[in-house]
Amino acid sequence: MVPAAAAEAIILSLVQPLDGLEALETVPLGGAAGRILARPITGSLDIPHWDNSAMDGYAVRHEDVAQASADQPVALSLTETIPAGQPPTQPVPPGQASRILTGSMLPTGADTVVMQENTQLQGDRVLILAAPLPGQFVRHRGSFYQAGQPLMAAGTALGGPELAVLAAAQCVQVPVFRRLRVAILSTGDELVNPETPLEPGKIVDSNQYALAALVQAAGAEPVMMGIVPDQPQALAAAIRSALTQAEVILSSGGVSVGDFDYVDRILADLGATLHIRSVAVRPGKPLTVATFPAETQSSPVLYFGLPGNPVSALVSFWRFVEPALRKRSGLKEGWSPQWVEAVTQQALKGGGPREIYLWGRLSPNSENPCRYDFALAGGSHSSGNLVNLAGANALAVVPVGTEILPQGEIVRVMVVR
Ligand code: AMP
Ligand code: MG
Repeated sequence: MVPAAAAEAIILSLVQPLDGLEALETVPLGGAAGRILARPITGSLDIPHWDNSAMDGYAVRHEDVAQASADQPVALSLTETIPAGQPPTQPVPPGQASRILTGSMLPTGADTVVMQENTQLQGDRVLILAAPLPGQFVRHRGSFYQAGQPLMAAGTALGGPELAVLAAAQCVQVPVFRRLRVAILSTGDELVNPETPLEPGKIVDSNQYALAALVQAAGAEPVMMGIVPDQPQALAAAIRSALTQAEVILSSGGVSVGDFDYVDRILADLGATLHIRSVAVRPGKPLTVATFPAETQSSPVLYFGLPGNPVSALVSFWRFVEPALRKRSGLKEGWSPQWVEAVTQQALKGGGPREIYLWGRLSPNSENPCRYDFALAGGSHSSGNLVNLAGANALAVVPVGTEILPQGEIVRVMVVR
């Protein structure tokens, strides 16, 4: 049994990020949210594009107004109003000011903006009632970003702020990594599709749907391969087919010590290298991690044989598969799960040689919102109970060697949504 942290490190060492031309795709800016930048971006525009005003007010020469005060206002005559989106048509000579709006271009001659609140309009003159600092409320051209400098690194996840930057740089065709293809198959003679009327002894294949949703949420493309019976030839055929369609394969079931658990043997027969066969976590001890040598792709195909129990399969996905998908997708950092500390609202039972993962909800503490509370999901914590897993957003981890974590103690929590 490999400890969880060591297993994560082994898995990440087996994975190379997508790279190279074959992994590149160009998408319009409007469709780039959630994708990962595949090439570094260098902008050809300064940001701001030109000197402009940070306030509604008056563009002035600082020397004209350096002595202004409420008792001794300085009167300036007005040249023009510079509307948003229009360049100034006149410079600002000494003793004069232009009315300016937020974002408007600064006229030549002016070097400072006086905010409207510190002025008073008097006919065709404006009274300046307070001395501004030199250069105040001017956003200088290129002060946020200078054209030609690196703007965004390859491997950056594109969310709202990143798209704003790309839009401002007029990068309208965005080079992103294509989505990773992840094949998902469910193994087990007992499994039926959700639409099949249930006969005695059958179990509905829920893992396929759960894993596909999690794969999709991780930014990858699930390839749902259906149910495979517990027959060596059928399983070998399904894995061979998955190898031609995906760069990561997830199967669930068939990795423990039951009479029909063929996955490991078939992986070895098909030429895979097995790196991990079980991990010291509960739920989720049986976990097979294997690689198939690279043929058409730059990196080997990664195989995860997840346990069949619905909770075990999902805990294994969150703890071990998701980091691998993040790294393989081309993300340059942030592969590992997100951990926080929380105050447990119930006593958490540990014990035994494995880390124990308990599902529940993480929420801000009502009195101190800087602190998190963890509330265990109600009902059974059996690894077969998928019902109370719905709604969980976090997994609390009781470390090896802790028999019990009393209520009110700090617990390490893995955020899963
Ligand atoms: P296994 O790891 O194949 O021994 O399966 C462990 C348990 O998980 C058994 O009760 C299976 O019926 C159940 N199981 C396996 N695969 C699935 C699946 N795809 N969906 C729901 N339950 C499953
Ligand atoms: Mg099975």
